[in-house]
Amino acid sequence: MRKYWNIIWFFGFFLVSLPILAQQNQVDSLRFWTAPDYTRLVFDVSTSPAHEVFLLNNPSRLVIDIHNARLKQKLPQPPASHPLFSRIRSAARNGRDLRVVIDLKAPVNPKSFALKPNRTYGHRLVVDLFTRKKKRSVAARKKNPRSTGRPRDIVIAIDAGHGGEDPGARGPHGTQEKKVVFAIAKKLEALIRNYPGMRPVMIRKGDYYIGLRKRMQIARRAKADLFVSIHADAFKNSRVKGASVFTLSRRGASSEAARWLARNENAADLVGGVSLDDKDDVLASVLLDLSQTATQEVSQSVAKQVLKNFRSIGKLHSRHVQKAGFMVLKSPDIPSILVETAFISNPDEERKLRSHAHQRRMAKAIFNGILGYFRRNPPVGTRMAAVKHTIVRGETLSGIAQHYGVSMKRLRAVNAMNSTRIRVGQVLSIPTDS
Ligand SMILES: [Zn+2]
Repeated sequence: MRKYWNIIWFFGFFLVSLPILAQQNQVDSLRFWTAPDYTRLVFDVSTSPAHEVFLLNNPSRLVIDIHNARLKQKLPQPPASHPLFSRIRSAARNGRDLRVVIDLKAPVNPKSFALKPNRTYGHRLVVDLFTRKKKRSVAARKKNPRSTGRPRDIVIAIDAGHGGEDPGARGPHGTQEKKVVFAIAKKLEALIRNYPGMRPVMIRKGDYYIGLRKRMQIARRAKADLFVSIHADAFKNSRVKGASVFTLSRRGASSEAARWLARNENAADLVGGVSLDDKDDVLASVLLDLSQTATQEVSQSVAKQVLKNFRSIGKLHSRHVQKAGFMVLKSPDIPSILVETAFISNPDEERKLRSHAHQRRMAKAIFNGILGYFRRNPPVGTRMAAVKHTIVRGETLSGIAQHYGVSMKRLRAVNAMNSTRIRVGQVLSIPTDS
């Protein structure tokens, strides 16, 4: 009899303790972040999620099975206009798992991973749905701005820091860095677009995350002359304030604070997701050494101009251009600067960062700095580099061509002329690179 009691005891203990040992995962909420080439789904979960993700056909569906999990509240539905999916359903499976089924509108390649808790979020399950690429190269080739004989625009790549699942730093009143830097970036974009001879390219066009390396790739594809990354600083001490401008350092950060900052900004890739393409670090550093000296000089000069313009709108955090090892600046061929516009951790500057008027002042300071540099050092072949010639009585096109050592054909192409006829007072652009 005593023996049986032992067995009953044993099983009783086992039955009660099983759910405690294998802790059930609570699926709390779901967010979507839609970028041009993928959509990121983020589930908030209570523990690290064991899961499977796979596709089903006819009709096309995405299935996400989360083991030993249950839903805490109803999942949100995507807007009807969402490019990738239309409906999200969920149900219990095998009595203990949770199955989420998403109806797809387009073919996707799913990729999933778990993220550990950080300052903003707890455990997360991330599912990235990449749209399958269509024939893209044809369109890209058509857009190449350097294939015509005409002087080109100076291209400025504007990188609003963070985005999507990565909010960046947070102010004492809850202001998110990703939002204010995007607002400043949009204002800078407008200033550049309205300036003849310059063209802006936004690295992120909305509230979604882009890996640090991908940001540089987008700038390179756009053949950018300059890469400007816009951020807002944060520090433990809320009294610290002011703007600072950084360039990349090959030999390490110029100050302890710069090192600390670089660690924080680079950590964004861990916050926003995993970077799968970090394996070429050795190759990248070799390329860096080969060709960075020239671009570093440009970066340094532009940074100085931007810093000078920030001085006129408020206190600077550092009077000198700082150097730090930001991953986002590691481009061997594009001069790059990183602007920490203000300290979001300072209540006064947090308020300023939210003000449209102040955002405009900061955008203008960055713009004036960029313009100041390129006016003095216009790259060869750009509209800003072109010499202007105003035609006076008695001149001919062939005479002007001879004078500047440019072919007639080139001169006509550059000025979009159908004939060789010119008139007094007409202003011609003279290319300086031939
Ligand atoms: Zn930042």
